[in-house]
Amino acid sequence: MKKQINITPSTASKIGTVDFDNLTFGSTFTDHMFVCDFRDGHWDIPKIVPFGTMELSPASSVLHYGQAVFEGMKAFKDDHGSIWLFRPNENASRLNKSAERLAIPAFPEDIFLEGLKSLITLDKEWVKSGDGKSLYVRPFVFASEACVQASASREYRFMVICAPVKSYYGGDVRVKIADHYSRAAQGGTGYAKAAGNYGGQFYPTQLAKDEGYQQIIWTDAASHEYIEEAGTMNLFFRIGDTLITAPTSDSILDGVTRKSILAIAQQMGIHTEVRMLKVSELIEAKKSGELLEIFGCGTAVVVQPIIGFGYKGNNYDTPLLENSYAQKLKDALVNIQCNKSKDPFGWRFKVCD
Ligand SMILES: *Cc1c(COP(=O)(O)O)cnc(C)c1O
Repeated sequence: MKKQINITPSTASKIGTVDFDNLTFGSTFTDHMFVCDFRDGHWDIPKIVPFGTMELSPASSVLHYGQAVFEGMKAFKDDHGSIWLFRPNENASRLNKSAERLAIPAFPEDIFLEGLKSLITLDKEWVKSGDGKSLYVRPFVFASEACVQASASREYRFMVICAPVKSYYGGDVRVKIADHYSRAAQGGTGYAKAAGNYGGQFYPTQLAKDEGYQQIIWTDAASHEYIEEAGTMNLFFRIGDTLITAPTSDSILDGVTRKSILAIAQQMGIHTEVRMLKVSELIEAKKSGELLEIFGCGTAVVVQPIIGFGYKGNNYDTPLLENSYAQKLKDALVNIQCNKSKDPFGWRFKVCD
């Protein structure tokens, strides 16, 4: 496949109708989208076309069997007007890891990066700077063959759509530690960014919301004794001066934010441990006063402090700390992303000036 992208620019931009200070996360989209179809055993020449609805057969395989994976990343505009992506190569390779697990053909990583560059450059006026503003970029692939046979589709569509977002304030977050439902089982699809992993957690999350929690901390499906992740965020626990996060596994998503925070923490001299953490250890640490912080992390929120957790009907508070690790790590990460600090790890990827 050549690195050719066919571009059909939109004739009228919608940007004038958008209030960039009042955006609901993920519901306003830029003028263009990237589309590439897979059929007859290969990916076609990709194209960038005006953002809009598309026609799908009601028999499209994804609607029946959920064969779909996605990614999430952000582009930032710095104070000089240049636009940067954060570690997009990580998303390109993870998309293909997810795709493999769902029997979806790999998408060439160089075309993924080239496509992002062209698309974001075309819509660069949509990337705003300041106060946590950014462009949320959503690549995804789904089974598009019009066939309800229960087997891997022979046709797929890869797309990228982009949504301008403002700084995401998740509000106060209390979590319920799962003791009944599971997000991902050993040998399952938990490590993949598979659409169905989300579909399956909405119901238990609704039940947790009815009990006054905002999210669920998932535990291992076999025993519910070990903490895994929050389902859209990886988790960190500060016990004493040690920052602990679970090792990635086949039931935990290997988050780019998680690995970036680990690297920054280590560089700051914070003691980190990547190990399994038992719910009982967490509760002991809370009771002894050693549990100082819990936070989630992911592309959308960056870092989200968790101010309390519930387990089997008991509630525990983890109030916000002054000078928290969460805040320090978030500031350091955001400064790298927005080109406000040096980039010692080589994480920034220039999209355009
Ligand atoms: C996307 C995702 C995360 C966060 O990953 P990032 O690469 O940091 O955005 C964490 N857990 C799950 C289940 C996810 O899908």
